[in-house]
Amino acid sequence: MQALTGITLIDGIHNSPIQDAVIIIEDDTIHSCGSKNEINLTQDMKIIDYQGKTVLPGLIDAHTHICFEPAADPLNILTEETDAETAIKAARYSHQTLKAGFTTIRDVGGKNYIDFAVRDAIKADVIPGPRILASGKNITMTGGHGWPIAEEVDGTAEVRWGTRKQLKKGADLIKIMATGGVLTEGVEPGAPQLTLAEIKAAVEEANKAGCKTASHAQGTTGIKNAIRAGIDSIEHGVFLDEEAIEMMLENDVYLVPTLIAVKMIAEEGTESGIPEFAVRKGRAIISDHLRSFQAALDAGVKIAMGTDAGSPFNNHGQNGLELTLMVKHGMSEMEAIKSATSISAELLGLSAEIGSIQPGKKADLVILEENPLDNIENISAVSQVLQNGNPVF
Ligand SMILES: [Zn+2]
Repeated sequence: MQALTGITLIDGIHNSPIQDAVIIIEDDTIHSCGSKNEINLTQDMKIIDYQGKTVLPGLIDAHTHICFEPAADPLNILTEETDAETAIKAARYSHQTLKAGFTTIRDVGGKNYIDFAVRDAIKADVIPGPRILASGKNITMTGGHGWPIAEEVDGTAEVRWGTRKQLKKGADLIKIMATGGVLTEGVEPGAPQLTLAEIKAAVEEANKAGCKTASHAQGTTGIKNAIRAGIDSIEHGVFLDEEAIEMMLENDVYLVPTLIAVKMIAEEGTESGIPEFAVRKGRAIISDHLRSFQAALDAGVKIAMGTDAGSPFNNHGQNGLELTLMVKHGMSEMEAIKSATSISAELLGLSAEIGSIQPGKKADLVILEENPLDNIENISAVSQVLQNGNPVF
């Protein structure tokens, strides 16, 4: 057993941290934790003193693209490079993500099932990386958002086929495209895409297999179609009106805002090489996106932390920037931390294993140099990451 001592403990569930706390780890599991007075240290324990440091549950990013090179035009790179090249890069991005304290990611859109190969290689200890839940190819309509790397399907029968195919190949969840988006040429973020009946077919097939669903959804009609179809999470949620927020609350639908993705596109501009159509759309939606985020937050919609890492200049391993933005736009530091731990774990259906520091949970931990409650930017000053109780290098 190992004992981490001298720490400030933020457990991902409770609102106040425990000062001078101790965490006891047995193999890959948290055995016990609490203030120093409550926890007995015994002779056989390996004591690691982290005096002055803050410990959080391993962070969770609920929206990544581990196959994407976060350059000016990721989709163009993906269509030009070979699968082997994509896979080698994805392995490197996985390591970067893990070292930043993100011990779990939900990857929502890969290429040619490379996301599954990376997930399985990490699981088998072939390469270092976070635990990955992967969706395989996105389900989109012909010419719909993300089509160059997605499964293009039309009509409910084809949607069922496309969804079943992802499940057969090993999808942990299904991601569908309910609206247009920023990074695909010729589609508009506000425009609905897959129909209500088509989304329902995808959700039904996924749920039959015990899998959850996520929808890329930016425009209001598409967002509502996805919620009516029974989706588990709305990704981006750019144009949320009051009714959409009400529907999310009623149906227990999570929002995954990905504020950093739009910010990077709008800020970097065409000078950086981002295609003109993407910059135009990014800049057009940014204020509505922030307004929707704040309205959802005020209404009490569950918000899971997701970055869209892999989108332009949205680097794998800088996932913590999203928490900084969420705080800048109205969340408390503790809310942002919960969003990236216990709330994301709930969305992923993994609350029994991860997302909090409690006895019986996996010993996935982030040790930070400074307390992120004092300044959320401290989330990126990682001293050490433990994965299944083992230090990550
Ligand atoms: Zn995305």
